[in-house]
Amino acid sequence: MAETSEKAPKLTKNQLLVFNVLANAAQPLGAYAILDELRIHGFKAPPQVYRALNQLALEGLIHKVESLNAWTVCCGNHDANPPVFAICNDCGSVTEHFDEGLSQNLETMSKESGFTPDRSIIEIHGQCDDCCTDKTQ
Ligand SMILES: [Zn+2]
Ligand SMILES: [Zn+2]
Repeated sequence: MAETSEKAPKLTKNQLLVFNVLANAAQPLGAYAILDELRIHGFKAPPQVYRALNQLALEGLIHKVESLNAWTVCCGNHDANPPVFAICNDCGSVTEHFDEGLSQNLETMSKESGFTPDRSIIEIHGQCDDCCTDKTQ
């Protein structure tokens, strides 16, 4: 069932600019941080950023990390699988993971309770490997 055709979504100039800012960022960025980066490209107001963000998210190119109210580029093609974000409380790094078993469990859970999921993102807060090792010094 895998779609192998390389149909790149058609992005508008603004969507591409927003995507590039996120792709070059080390951490997820909020809409205002993105806006600041893009003022030199003529962005003036948050709605311009939000419109681009929403469209990029629909295309599956970026995700919103809800607990940070920030956006990050999707690290790969995982179709319907909900991404699992491991968020470091110390350095703010965010790593995206997928788990086939987990997504099946979520699907079963939703079906059994008659719930129709729209979208799901799983976020785990804690400390990344780097920050954990620093602590033992
Ligand atoms: Zn993703
Ligand atoms: Zn860390």
